[in-house]
Amino acid sequence: MSGTSVLAGPAKLYIGGEWAEASGGERRDIVDPATGTKIADVPEGTTADADAAIAAAKAAFPEWSAKSGRERSRILNRVAQLMGERLEAFAQAETQDVGKPILFTRMIDIPTAIEQFEYFAALAQTLDGSVRETPLPALSLVRREPLGVVAAITPFNFPMILAASKLAPALAAGNTIVHKPAEDTPLSAFLLAEVLADAGVPSGVYNLVTGPGAELGDHIVAHPDVAAIAFTGSTTVGKRIASVAGASLKPAMTELGGNGANIVFADADLDAAVTTVINAFVYNTGQFCMSGTRLLVERPIHDTLVGILAGAVPHVPLGSPSDPGTVIGPLVSERQRTRVQRLVDQAVADGGTVVAGGAPLDLDGGYYYPPTIITGVPNDSEAVQEEIFGPVLTVQAFDTEAEAIELANSTRYGLAAGVQTADAAKALRVTKALKAGVQWVNGWAMLDPSVPFGGYKDSGLGRESGPEALLNYTRSKSVTISVPPAS
Ligand code: NAP
Repeated sequence: MSGTSVLAGPAKLYIGGEWAEASGGERRDIVDPATGTKIADVPEGTTADADAAIAAAKAAFPEWSAKSGRERSRILNRVAQLMGERLEAFAQAETQDVGKPILFTRMIDIPTAIEQFEYFAALAQTLDGSVRETPLPALSLVRREPLGVVAAITPFNFPMILAASKLAPALAAGNTIVHKPAEDTPLSAFLLAEVLADAGVPSGVYNLVTGPGAELGDHIVAHPDVAAIAFTGSTTVGKRIASVAGASLKPAMTELGGNGANIVFADADLDAAVTTVINAFVYNTGQFCMSGTRLLVERPIHDTLVGILAGAVPHVPLGSPSDPGTVIGPLVSERQRTRVQRLVDQAVADGGTVVAGGAPLDLDGGYYYPPTIITGVPNDSEAVQEEIFGPVLTVQAFDTEAEAIELANSTRYGLAAGVQTADAAKALRVTKALKAGVQWVNGWAMLDPSVPFGGYKDSGLGRESGPEALLNYTRSKSVTISVPPAS
């Protein structure tokens, strides 16, 4: 049986201020991961639709980029306000589409997306040029200009937060947008297009094309009228995008995979550490680039901490994401669940021991997987080295601070890391040595739109959030003006 779509009408592409069917006439079913049933269908956009969206964004650029920062700020504030007024619809869309618990879509996903628009609405007013004095008989005017058409390509796991974290700074800086959301989870993007239109974002400034990334991707990225790419997704696709963009020397900001190390020292507050460790690996059912999926524990507390965690995780409320008490919903798809199981099996084959979870759950036809803890996994196991993207914690013991740092830095990723300790000096030493772009001491995933966010190594290039993100969407132009010495 099909569920009910949260969209008021049939979803359409949004191009140049008009709602349109895909030019090929195809549509794709969208499935509720909590039940495996169809909840909507959306247009399967084609390269011709992408071309139309890029042309609309190009045509809208001169007028949008010529607006003052104050004018763009007013419109972005209105976007934030309208998202707030329609928060429940957005939250329901994310919950049905991604399987995210409604508790979090109401409290975290949509409010965080709104904060991005509010923050960059404020920064839009600060983006101005500067004058530099030089030793020359000249003054240099350094202008900041928007890039042009930005392709925003977003993944399945945080549709609104990751759309907002690209759209808000790019629009604030005066760019126009072609947005391609993930095929599996595009529903909230249709609501966002409505909000942007209702907020007064001029036609063509934001364009939405749904469709298969593998077919549309290279076409959009290589298109000569696309000036820059803002991508969040897997490392494999991110590297492909960076190479295609590199061929025409256009910037590609890539926020990619991760497998965060959470280091718990023996001096940490154990109760607080237990809560942090659990939240860090079960949040968003582990489908979180910043997941704290690798627990590194100082040996004297290893057995105690593992015992407490294994006893606690079966009690974390798991079930229908529309139940306000649910903390763990389903994975996004059967494909994702199969991948998680393969990596769990690999960890066991490599010598690990499952002390909690370890097998899929049969519940309501959904793609559920329980919180899973595996001890004694060797560091070279694929389950440690790769991103699992499920609610899975591998546990490794360490004896010295140096060993903890070495283990933490030993994978190809470098996005998130955490240090749980009562010793402030140790926290500063260790965080300095960790090769991860986003770190927390005595906590996990504390985020704010003012704080830059991004990875080292295979976790990507560029930063979202903070003034750094705004500058990503601009280039400087310097004009040096001769000032003859006074005679
Ligand atoms: P994905 O498979 O890489 O897809 C991401 C987006 O890229 C989707 O819109 C996808 O479209 C599109 N795409 C696919 N192939 C493409 C191509 N050749 N050219 C251009 N675009 C293409 O990632 P995902 O499975 O949706 O998301 C999970 C990944 O995102 C994980 O690795 C996670 O760590 C990462 N992530 C990183 C961050 C961060 O901030 N660092 C945050 C969240 C997620 P289709 O859906 O149509 O294939």
